[in-house]
Amino acid sequence: MPSPCLRGMMGGVDDTLLFDARARVLADLVARHQATPAAVSVLEDAVSDRKWWAEQWPEGAAYVAGLVAQDVQDALFETVGRWPICLSCDDAPVHALYIQPDLGGPDPMWVCEETGEPVAALGLLSSPGPAAPRG
Ligand SMILES: [Zn+2]
Repeated sequence: MPSPCLRGMMGGVDDTLLFDARARVLADLVARHQATPAAVSVLEDAVSDRKWWAEQWPEGAAYVAGLVAQDVQDALFETVGRWPICLSCDDAPVHALYIQPDLGGPDPMWVCEETGEPVAALGLLSSPGPAAPRG
């Protein structure tokens, strides 16, 4: 029976996983100029919530990064609005990107809400997307 006094010592969760999730979501906040102190604080909260979650369900490791991204997206929607905005569609009204798979992983991708097309892997929004010919 694990004692609460041993928390931090018992968890089988690899902290690298949480650092990776945090780094990827932070990179995408920075990529879209949303890395405000408030957003980073939301991110820290999401990471610590998911750390607890991953401790309960170690097999869920593959989903952590995508779930953290979804948590931050939901929290920002309440305050600053949509993040991240799709920049791929020229003609559509402003719309967001969503994490696919919906479960958060494995291999979470940002997907356009309108077209369902993948835009970038989580953490890589700052990279030029797949070179779609324009015009
Ligand atoms: Zn779009």
